[in-house]
Amino acid sequence: MGNDNCLLMKMQVDRLKSQKRRLAGACKNMREMNTALEEALIACNRKLMQADLLNMELEQVFNNSTDPMWVIREDGVVVRVNTAMLDFFDRTKDEIIGWLCKDIFGEHCINDGKCPVKTCKRSRMFHKYEIKQTRPSGEVRYFLVSTASLVTIDGLSGFVAQYKDISLLKNAEQMMEKANVALERLAGIDGLTGVANRRTFDTAIKKEWDRLRRIQKPLSIILCDIDHFKDYNDTLGHQAGDDCLRKVAETLALSARRPADLVARYGGEEFVFLLPETPAGGAAEVAENALRNIAARRLPHPGLASCGTVTLSFGVAEIIPKEGLSFNFLVELADASLYRAKDTGRNRVCCAGENRY
Ligand code: GH3
Ligand code: MG
Ligand code: MG
Repeated sequence: MGNDNCLLMKMQVDRLKSQKRRLAGACKNMREMNTALEEALIACNRKLMQADLLNMELEQVFNNSTDPMWVIREDGVVVRVNTAMLDFFDRTKDEIIGWLCKDIFGEHCINDGKCPVKTCKRSRMFHKYEIKQTRPSGEVRYFLVSTASLVTIDGLSGFVAQYKDISLLKNAEQMMEKANVALERLAGIDGLTGVANRRTFDTAIKKEWDRLRRIQKPLSIILCDIDHFKDYNDTLGHQAGDDCLRKVAETLALSARRPADLVARYGGEEFVFLLPETPAGGAAEVAENALRNIAARRLPHPGLASCGTVTLSFGVAEIIPKEGLSFNFLVELADASLYRAKDTGRNRVCCAGENRY
């Protein structure tokens, strides 16, 4: 009996010992789990702090950007705006946030397919476009707008838009364009007389020749040359000769009245009229008119061989441009007529004979 009790006691002690061991193991596990939990909590807090700092940093970048920026939700409502944008619209945050961007932008809203509100639901959409803004003061400013789609704080689609002021660049571009137009114009003008130069004439005759060949209409030219101009220069000097060239050019330019007509300095004391869609008869009339206008100016010519005033000889030619024929042929015809005018006494108009081509 005594032995049985002893055995029972021993078994109980063994059970208790094994329970103690299990409990010790469980405690160790709990301690380890506790430590792991604490570490996880610390890591989580650190991440949260980092996220806060990152958010603050991004907020500062957004707010301190000198370029106006805002975030627009897919329904067109402004959800975030930076200081530069408030300055740009000259409004407070309350007057922008929660309002529709199209109401804020008014007439400058982009209503075509490029509108970023329409495409912001598609991820990774980027747009770049230029806008012109007239401020209440009347000042015109140009912006290069860059937009990128994103998810707004409400979890909805939207986009961020940045406005880069490119007014200086645009104004410089416009000034360059104007300067180029002026340069282009100057490059086509004869520096001495102010009428078109040979380069302009060469370009124009080629263009008109091709155009009139297609529509089968006549092209006329008049070549004219100041008579005895060498005597003029020799007697009055080169400076006076230049003055005379200017006056002659001015008179000739006034003698061709149609908008498509062109008067150019062909070289030296020689000028040319380009008369598109003008038949020989009309061209001869222009030449006679120019001859009369020059006579009416009564520019004194002291040279021995002259009639006392400056005169010109005119050679007229007309052609309906044809395939296989060059405009040089028309110039040759006019030159031959001019030669005849010189040869037959000067101060006259000669026309290329009928059916000579
Ligand atoms: P013609 O009646 O046969 O045409 O005789 P012309 O004396 O006019 O012809 P010529 O070819 O013998 O002389 C042309 C003169 O034109 C000589 C040249 O000094 C003058 N001339 C050409 N270009 C200019 C210019 O730009 N300025 C001045 N002052 N004279 C020029
Ligand atoms: Mg000459
Ligand atoms: Mg001459």
